[in-house]
Amino acid sequence: MANVGLIREQLRAAGCMMPLVADVHFRADVADKAAAVVEKVRINPGNYIDPARKFVHIDYTDEEYQTELHRLRERFTSLLDICKAHHTALRLGVNHGSLSDRIMSRYGDTPEGMVESCMEFLRVAAEQSFTDIVLSVKSSNTRVMVDTVRLLVKQMEKEGMAFPIHLGVTEAGEGEDGRIRSAVGIGALLADGIGDTVRVSLSEEPEKELPVAKALVDYFYAQDSIRYRIDDVQLTIDNGAAAYRSTQQDWELFVLQASAECGRLLWENESVASEHLHLDNPHFPEDKLRQLEKDILQAAGVIRYKTEFVSCPGCGRTLFDLQRTVAEIKDAMRNTPFKPLKIAVMGCIVNGPGEMADADYGYVGAARGKVSLYRNKQCIEQNIPAEEALKKLVALLESDEKNG
Ligand code: SF4
Repeated sequence: MANVGLIREQLRAAGCMMPLVADVHFRADVADKAAAVVEKVRINPGNYIDPARKFVHIDYTDEEYQTELHRLRERFTSLLDICKAHHTALRLGVNHGSLSDRIMSRYGDTPEGMVESCMEFLRVAAEQSFTDIVLSVKSSNTRVMVDTVRLLVKQMEKEGMAFPIHLGVTEAGEGEDGRIRSAVGIGALLADGIGDTVRVSLSEEPEKELPVAKALVDYFYAQDSIRYRIDDVQLTIDNGAAAYRSTQQDWELFVLQASAECGRLLWENESVASEHLHLDNPHFPEDKLRQLEKDILQAAGVIRYKTEFVSCPGCGRTLFDLQRTVAEIKDAMRNTPFKPLKIAVMGCIVNGPGEMADADYGYVGAARGKVSLYRNKQCIEQNIPAEEALKKLVALLESDEKNG
């Protein structure tokens, strides 16, 4: 923690006045220390007082559950006192992939569980009259992310609360698929008027994320937003198919805008036969539009026609070259005709296994130069030398495919 103070001092000495944020997992004591130094602390309700998840069901009596909530109140109140004393803001960052075994045992792997994980902390904050809080509830599954944020907004309204919400789809991956997945989730909420800040998480250089976030926000909120120029954009239901017509000439913007509109159109209209989406734009060839339709349907979780890659954005904990590894795994999969799967590529063992959520297979950094392979949430082989890991992953997929 001493280093955080030094980093802050040096940033300020260099004239950088950007707020400094500490992202703390598992260590409530570290969150306390950070809160005295930085401008904002992020804690994860899934691991603030609860231990790392072991994917076990725990049968709590109501009394035992109340004891856990009491422990949470005591511990979190201490952090709030430090935040008040130092004018430090908090972010409660709930992740679908890191819900605690306690929450999962009581509420299941559900939007209700994610919302309750957040509300337990908000109720304590409300009791303590602490309001410098921003919320995020993220998932790599776009539908789960959207349903959860909407439910959170409703629950807050019910309990007389209104905290700002940060939007994001976790482990969205990279390239066009990563952008489509981000736009489907974030766009549905921006269209509802929900969201105060946005993060697009791509397994690419960080500076590639900002233009995507900006394009989405501009599409919904900029004064000259093309969304409101009715001649440029039409969103309709035609013969049971969701249809999006646009004259946008920039392919990258068209991909984001169509994705941002179509996910929710597919989810929210019972009259739309799922799998029926029609995109129309006179500037692009039919084959490109038909391909994009399928990619949006997959990003919205309506179909799975090709293998999907979820990968973390990488951070200081990343143990291998994430972008190169994702590209190599994609290449290997292209040459091998597996049934469509969901494969997670995660930079570290600390958060990777938990955050893979509903992936079929996981390729996770275990140590420098070492990789562990997972099937669903189960570790199949640990600490494989990195140079052998891809071969082992392909062998595992081949053997599973053969054995049905
Ligand atoms: S390296 Fe680990 S902590 Fe960092 S973004 Fe990836 S999974 Fe999350």
